[in-house]
Amino acid sequence: MSFVRPEIDAMAGYVPGEQPQAGKFIKLNTNENPYPPSPAVNRAIKERLDQGLERYPDPMATSFRMRAAEVLGVEPDWIMCGNGSDDILTIVTRAFVGTGQWLRLPTPSYVLYKTLAEIQGSDSEEIAFNDDWSLPTEFSTGSNQLRLAFLPNPNSPSGTIVPKAQIAAAADALPCPFLVDEAYVDFAEENCVDLVKQNDKILVSRTLSKSYALAGLRFGYVVAQPHVIAQLLKVKDSYNCDALSIAGATAAIDDQQWLADNRAKVIKTRKRMTDKMREIGFTVPDSQANFVWGTFPGRNLKALYEFLKQNRVLVRYMHYPNYEPGIRISVGGEDQIDACLMLIETALAQGI
Ligand code: PMP
Repeated sequence: MSFVRPEIDAMAGYVPGEQPQAGKFIKLNTNENPYPPSPAVNRAIKERLDQGLERYPDPMATSFRMRAAEVLGVEPDWIMCGNGSDDILTIVTRAFVGTGQWLRLPTPSYVLYKTLAEIQGSDSEEIAFNDDWSLPTEFSTGSNQLRLAFLPNPNSPSGTIVPKAQIAAAADALPCPFLVDEAYVDFAEENCVDLVKQNDKILVSRTLSKSYALAGLRFGYVVAQPHVIAQLLKVKDSYNCDALSIAGATAAIDDQQWLADNRAKVIKTRKRMTDKMREIGFTVPDSQANFVWGTFPGRNLKALYEFLKQNRVLVRYMHYPNYEPGIRISVGGEDQIDACLMLIETALAQGI
């Protein structure tokens, strides 16, 4: 006999991408950064470790918020930090969406949003992107039962972006808060932080996992108007960011030169990957993230994924219902991408 809530019992649960803990893989499946983070991060963590861990960390992650506020052009009370941006998405969902209410998400996109709705016992309403990955107008209309809308921008798996002007218009039209998930935005040409100042329905979430090469550290944050942040703070765990993460994240955001250099390297490799995959025959939308999404009607991409895995290259195979299956390949180091592309050509030449 199970005492678990029926909503939880009925859930499949979110399954993150493969994270092999043994064996040597070229890992291009979960959009990590192939380069080490700013050396300032390691130094800051070691220094903080030397100070001892016997005390609780700063519940507000003040050092990070102060530095991030300068970088973003807001005040620190516009920022709340989290244990990765998944923590932020959880807090935002818990704050806004209750049982029987609705959460809106585009599809194909980040599968976790649906899981968060399921945990709340709320309903998720999936609105399909247009064929060109633009946002359909029905995304922005809805009843009072609609309590939250999510949009990853750039989107995953496509890497495509919805222009800022459309996001502003969608936020005006929506009857609920609108979280723009900017996990990949440092690789894009524009971001929505200044929209937060114009409209208190807009929240922007960010992560240090991708563009700051700190997926293992677990640090993310949300930018929203102070009265919204004040509500979110009531929902978060008291000490959701640990002392070492706060020290490392503060050093990371302080090193904006490292970010600019890394961004340039990733964007250069992304272009090379996109061009080559198109030449091979994949359909690849223009990506503004640190990954590319390729579909190839008539080819068995599941078999391609398996071939790559056998050859120690991990990519992400994704098959969303009613959509052409595809593979999402994270931008890796130059050698890693050479190896991956060469294996893809070999597999296709063998008839896969
Ligand atoms: N949003 C999107 C769109 C993502 O792809 C990811 C990474 N899986 C996240 C948020 C969460 O990243 P993290 O929890 O590492 O900050």
